Amino acid sequence: ESQLNPNYSFENFLEGDSNRLARSAGLAVAAKPGGTSFNPLLIFGGVGLGKTHLAHAIGVDIKDKYPEKTVLYISAEKFTQQYIEAVKKNNRNDFIHFYQIIDVLIIDDVQFLSGKTGTQDVFFHIFNHLHQNGKQVILTSDKAPVDMQDIEQRLLSRFKWGLSAELQNPDFETRVSILKNKLYRDGVEMPDEIIEYVAKNIKTNVRELEGAIISLIAQSSFNKKEITIDLARIIVEKFVKNTKREVSIDYIQKVVSDYFQMDIDTLQSKTRKRHIVQARQLAMFFAKKFTKASLASIGSQIGKRDHATVLHACKTVDNLSSTDKQFRKYVEDITKKLSV
Ligand code: ADP
Ligand code: MG
Repeated sequence: ESQLNPNYSFENFLEGDSNRLARSAGLAVAAKPGGTSFNPLLIFGGVGLGKTHLAHAIGVDIKDKYPEKTVLYISAEKFTQQYIEAVKKNNRNDFIHFYQIIDVLIIDDVQFLSGKTGTQDVFFHIFNHLHQNGKQVILTSDKAPVDMQDIEQRLLSRFKWGLSAELQNPDFETRVSILKNKLYRDGVEMPDEIIEYVAKNIKTNVRELEGAIISLIAQSSFNKKEITIDLARIIVEKFVKNTKREVSIDYIQKVVSDYFQMDIDTLQSKTRKRHIVQARQLAMFFAKKFTKASLASIGSQIGKRDHATVLHACKTVDNLSSTDKQFRKYVEDITKKLSV
């Protein structure tokens, strides 16, 4: 079982400036697996930009051209789980042997191996064996090798032996053609105006681009409504909002201090004036709610307080918002401002 998804083909992987290098490197590898200098071929780029799709496409194409070759696609996560299982069952050697006889090994999301020294070690040996025997290795990652963390140097240096090709954010034209192709394959018609509206507003993730179109189709058929620009606007807004990047603590302090018409220095000051204390507590509360920062880090950024102060602030805000109507309104207003 190769685990390849035939829908993830080259044909369905639309070309644009953002992916031209990676795509053509993939085609070259598929034409001569193990026989180019692109070994390993490492495809890297952000979430939803087509790494998994392209990795499959290479495998699917190889299987097509060389049916006798064994091609295996596996995520680094699953590879790790399998390895842990094998060690538990005393099958480490079988595990290694299984991977060493594959002709084309595709490992998706190798950043998952970060910090997993045992799996890195076994992969190092498998990699060396395959490479020495002219077998093809294809890897994907969310980062370039130079930016990878907690991956052993000897493995990183091998990642750099071949070619690292980046998938970048697709430009507007490519986004439109990806959507049109998808609609065409699904047999759905949609006015250009709407397709372009979606493509214009969702820029950094093809999966979301497709997701917005799918939910647009679903909404319109569920409500038996025509697909209009207004419906598109509502759906796109939802997508953009849900995927908005984490707000920063600086930004939260700015929004809160603007709301209470004070400056950030005042918000952070040592004063015990009640409305300033409350503003500061709200800033801490929202920092806890909307960022991944630790209590200690929130405290140090909002007026050099300690983690206990932040914890106390969060509790106070919780209490006040259930007992004090005015205060609850503050929380609601600021929440809205932070979610726009
Ligand atoms: P990643 O692995 O980088 O997170 P995926 O390969 O899962 O991204 O791609 C996300 C979605 O976007 C998939 O449905 C994929 O088919 C689609 N996609 C990405 N790039 C393209 C492209 N160039 N042409 C067509 N579809 C694409
Ligand atoms: Mg992926």
